[in-house]
Amino acid sequence: MRFNPPSEKDAWHAIGPLEGLSEDLRRAFLPNGDFEPIPLPGPNDWLAVHDEPGQTFLDFVRSRPNGPDALRNTIYLQLLDYLHSSSVPPIDRLVQFTEAFFAMNANLLPELATSSRRITRRINPYTHHEQLLTRDILRLLVEHLPEDAFCVVAMTMRDLYPGPAWNFAFGEASLRDRVGVYSFARYDPAFYGIDSSDRDHVLLRRSCKVLAHETSHMFGIHHCIYFKCLMNGSNHLEESDRRPMHLCPVDLRKLHYSIGFDITERYQKLLDFARAVHFDDEAQWLSRRLGRIEAPLPTRTNRREEHAR
Ligand SMILES: [Zn+2]
Ligand SMILES: [Zn+2]
Repeated sequence: MRFNPPSEKDAWHAIGPLEGLSEDLRRAFLPNGDFEPIPLPGPNDWLAVHDEPGQTFLDFVRSRPNGPDALRNTIYLQLLDYLHSSSVPPIDRLVQFTEAFFAMNANLLPELATSSRRITRRINPYTHHEQLLTRDILRLLVEHLPEDAFCVVAMTMRDLYPGPAWNFAFGEASLRDRVGVYSFARYDPAFYGIDSSDRDHVLLRRSCKVLAHETSHMFGIHHCIYFKCLMNGSNHLEESDRRPMHLCPVDLRKLHYSIGFDITERYQKLLDFARAVHFDDEAQWLSRRLGRIEAPLPTRTNRREEHAR
């Protein structure tokens, strides 16, 4: 199993045919130099150890993905044991980011304390941190699933494990039940004993990425092999940090197909957010991308004139 990065032609092919789309959408789905090709994976990287066939836009449409509808149209964020944790990413920021990224309603559910629930737990023999069993948390989330939930994404600073044979898990989801749980514990530099002056900033950035990546899976979007993209798989923390916070055109088109937002408006809201929380590199990228897709294509004026005649 050896991953060969796709050619530029194959990456463009994965975006799907653009004929028949409005000029605005065509501009939004054309890479135009704003998306880097996916590099050859290093020996421990995701694509070196996982066989990923890739999912083109048309593959996605054919999979009849789960999308929001009139009844289920809210993304719920569920905090688990958050109030007991010393350093947590600010909740209001996570809600704002979710709303901007998915252009959908995002609501916070009342905090759940696991101490009063039947959740299997253990002390990890290596880190000596207490860990919670993901399966029990998923069951709890299903029991509390609101009627209008498109999905529920639970977040905790507790460490997680998926079963006795495993050391730990960053998280786990049940796409069928539309629930997932993710731990930010190992995204906190302090977990590794690192005393970082920008701890809060690093933790917020990583948490936003996890939230967007995992919630995009809830929409049926698989891992991306076409560009450097938020939906690239990740095998370790350094690889997660390398992923950009934005979707490539293939995956943006999938999300747009499911939700149907205004792409410029969505980018603008993400830009406002990135500026507010000082995600400077992402703000720079968003601002450049917005400029590019708002600028008229060279043929636009001609075409308008043709229609006018
Ligand atoms: Zn993933
Ligand atoms: Zn992608």
